[in-house]
This record gives sequence, C-alpha cells and structure tokens, in this order.
Amino acid sequence: MDYNLTDDGYYGEFGGAYIPEILYANVEALRQSYLKIIDDPAFKAEFSALLRDYVGRPSPLYFAKRLSERYATRIYLKREDLNHTGSHKINNAIGQILLARRMGKTRIIAETGAGQHGVATATVCALMNMRCIVYMGETDIARQQLNVQKMKMLGVEVRPVSSGNKTLKDACNEAIRDWCCNPSDTHYIIGSTVGPHPYPDMVTRFQSVISAELKQQLAEHTGRDYPDYLVACVGGGSNAAGTFYHYLNDERVKLIGAEAAGLGIDTDQTAATIHRGKRGIIHGSHTLVMQTDDGQIIEPYSISAGLDYPGIGPLHANLAETGRATYMAVTDDEALRAATELTRLEAIIPALESAHALGILRRKAFDPSDVVVITVSGRGDKDMETFINNTATV
Ligand SMILES: *Cc1c(COP(=O)(O)O)cnc(C)c1O
Repeated sequence: MDYNLTDDGYYGEFGGAYIPEILYANVEALRQSYLKIIDDPAFKAEFSALLRDYVGRPSPLYFAKRLSERYATRIYLKREDLNHTGSHKINNAIGQILLARRMGKTRIIAETGAGQHGVATATVCALMNMRCIVYMGETDIARQQLNVQKMKMLGVEVRPVSSGNKTLKDACNEAIRDWCCNPSDTHYIIGSTVGPHPYPDMVTRFQSVISAELKQQLAEHTGRDYPDYLVACVGGGSNAAGTFYHYLNDERVKLIGAEAAGLGIDTDQTAATIHRGKRGIIHGSHTLVMQTDDGQIIEPYSISAGLDYPGIGPLHANLAETGRATYMAVTDDEALRAATELTRLEAIIPALESAHALGILRRKAFDPSDVVVITVSGRGDKDMETFINNTATV
C-alpha cells in the first residue's frame, strides 16, 4: 500500500529528495534497490527472524482494563516499550542494517538526539560487526550520558557536534556532511520517517510491522481486525507511520497523532510542527518546518527529547493537510500527568514521548463501544530523572 506516494517520493506536495549533487548517486541507488531488497523473500525471512528472536516480536497488544474504566471506552496498548533496547526504533535499525549489508556497505553513520536511535543503531552494528559512527550534539551528550555510555560500550564512536545549538538538527547536518565525504562505503541509518526519499517510505515499511501485527491481534482480542481509533505520538513520525500503515486506506479507522506542544502551541517553547510549522525544506525533504519569517529554523522545545525535531515526516504533513489524520498538540504537563496515570493504573512506566499519545485521553471523548489502540512507543527508564524532577498529579 503506497498511500498516494509517487515514484519520486511525494505524498501530495510533501517529500521529495532535495540533496547535494554529491549524494545523488547514493540516494538514487537506494531508491532503485530498497523495494527489491525489502520484498526479497530471503531478506524478509532474515528480518522477521531477527524481529522475533532478537527484538522479541510480536510486541503484545494489551487490554488496559483500569485505564479503559477511567475513560469509559476500550483501550488497548501496543507494547513497543517491551522491545529490546526499549522502543520501536530497533525495528528500523535492524531493517536498515540488513539492507546496508546487501548493498555492500561496510561503514554505518547515524545521528541521534536523545540517544535512543543512536543506541538502536549501535546495537545492530555490534550485532552485525559493522563499523559505526554516531553524530550527537554536545548539548545532547551532556543531557544523555547513559545513552552515550551505552553506545561506547557497544563499540561505537560518538562524535560530538559543536555547531549550531549542538542538538539533533546539527547532528543530522554533520551526518549528511560525513555521507558526502564517504559516499561509496557508507550507509546513513536515519532514525525516523524523515530525510530525502526513499527514507520516509523505507522507514515506514520497516515500522509497518506494528500495524501488521495489530490486524492479527485485534482480530483475536475483539473479533474485528481493525480498531475505531489509532493513536500514536509524532516526533519525526515513525512509530505513528508504522501504527497507521496498514490502515491508511481504511476509512473506518480514525487516526490521531500527538505532537509535543511543550509549554503550549502559542508559546515559543513548543515542538508542535504541524500546528506551528510552515512549508520548507529540512534534511532533504519538503515538509512543514518550524522556522522564522526569513526561513531560519527555530529550535523546538519539548520536555521529551525524542519529540523535539523541527520538522515532521512528509507522510504526516500530507495526512494532516488532507484531514486523513488529526494531530493534537499535548503539553509537557499533560504528558507528565498521563505518564503518572498509566503507571498508577496499569503499572507501566511509559517513555515521555509515548505519554503524549496517552495525553489525548483527557482531551477527546470516546464512545464506550470504541476500540482505541494507543502505541506505547517506548519505556520510561530513560526518563526517570525527568519524572523525579517533575512530580505530576493525576
Ligand atoms: C524517538 C522516539 C519517538 C519519536 O520518534 P518517531 O519517529 O516519531 O516515532 C517516540 N517515542 C520514543 C520512545 C522514541 O524513542
């Protein structure tokens, strides 16, 4: 299913591949081979075996009884938090490392903000014995020491980035610069549904295992292979894209994305790109971008490090524009409260990113008969310090 994706990578007016000349051959080789590789039966077998035996898939679909009682509807949680390394990011990292190997690449680079994608990439590189360099802003290195130490223990070189605000977008720029210098032996593992075509579609396909499993699991749980609502948080958009994918053309299913409002969409401290962004180009993709009137990128803010990207995957920009999906902006406080609530009611400590998806429960009323699936994209271990410093009341 290609939800309106054109051959040159456009979802409606969003997407494409705006790249420097020197990367053209690389991106073009990827574009010409990714579908053939992904559809190859041997690739599929290797990918699913690793997802099963190494990641621990299928991730459970859990009926959240007490949460359902509180909100008077039927809430199911898709438990990506139970994956190896603690989030959905490993699904994509495994897909891309297998693809890189088939394309004859010997060196991997990646960017990371909070460090979750860095750890997932470091993990698959160690597993496959591939050389790996992760670019990370100095500000993020200081904030995310545990993930930096994990990457180092896994044998990765973490290269500090000191340009700009020393955060995620600067790390992306450095990774792109590296790729320009080493186009022949290097594959760039992008961590979300962002970047030039074919990355948004490729990452979506690797993450689509989430909705493929949902079809089967919902049929077992509810006797119907589709829900009334799918809810997921949106940073670059990969866990949401994977959650929505097999239902994109099924209008019976309503799609809700939760983006990070930070302190509020009317403040300067926000990461709500769909609410606040304007059309522009970021990291090779024409999409919505948080920018000033003269096109300078605005540093986004969210309490959750995984959601503060100043762009948004082109699929989501299109889903928002066409109205196929609804995007709600959830504040720091709402997310903190939702995290505490899930912990008290279901004894699951979610990642702060995922807590934004849970935060929509207080905003939107569902019918008692509705089946609402919320993807818990990751676990909250990495956010304990933030939880400790910000006590929320349920
Ligand atoms: C990185 C991350 C996100 C945001 O990324 P998407 O590509 O939008 O899914 C969400 N949740 C967790 C746990 C993450 O680590």
